Amino acid sequence: MKTAEDKTIVREYFNSTGFDRWRRIYGDAEVNKVQLDIRTGHQQTVDHVIGWLEADNNLPSLSICDAGCGVGSLSIPLATAGAKVYASDIAAKMVSEAQDRAVMALSNTANPSFAVQDLESLGGNYHTVICLDVLIHYPQKKADEMISHLCSLAQSRIILSFAPKTFFLTILKKIGTFFPGPSKTTRAYLHSEADIIKILQKNGFSIERTAMTRTNFYFSRLLEATRTSV
Ligand code: SAM
Repeated sequence: MKTAEDKTIVREYFNSTGFDRWRRIYGDAEVNKVQLDIRTGHQQTVDHVIGWLEADNNLPSLSICDAGCGVGSLSIPLATAGAKVYASDIAAKMVSEAQDRAVMALSNTANPSFAVQDLESLGGNYHTVICLDVLIHYPQKKADEMISHLCSLAQSRIILSFAPKTFFLTILKKIGTFFPGPSKTTRAYLHSEADIIKILQKNGFSIERTAMTRTNFYFSRLLEATRTSV
């Protein structure tokens, strides 16, 4: 499948059935067991990132780009902790839900600032660029291009998560249970950690911290890389 098709399919998915499915998973309403497992796993990934950033004790001085922000699961707590957050997503429905959630959670509606934009067309410069659970929708070559672009926006640090290509996960994907459940899914691409690190290094970044979240149905490898050269 061509990358342009991947992107169109992903946008349409997250503006339709995917929106309904993921809004529930990333919420607190009742969901089925599989969705609950994914919700728990995803929350652990978000908590890892917040834990790292809080440990550095400088959140209020940071500008953060949350690329592919979804319904704001990370952007809203980061803004609550005082960071200036620029959140964007390719799907208007996800952004609209994120905006509603931000209004509920925060009295100040200017932060996070939200935009409907694909991450490939993002500009600007941010202390930290974060992209969680987005690369899974794209093949390696396209993921490389996306990571390179995100690196060009990051002054100091980039934090990425992806579904790691391991033997176990490859088998799971083959038997079609990686994204189980009744609501139909998009394609899920697994990525080799070595390939992701290679592209980060090529862009002048080196790995600082790593984490892995693994529940029954959710697998996400998290990498933090800091800039070593311009
Ligand atoms: N990062 C969020 C989180 O962890 O809560 C959302 C993760 S969700 C699985 C993937 C999100 O990536 C969706 O909201 C989707 O619309 C968005 N997305 C997919 N491709 C994108 C692209 N090329 N540019 C920006 N957002 C994209």
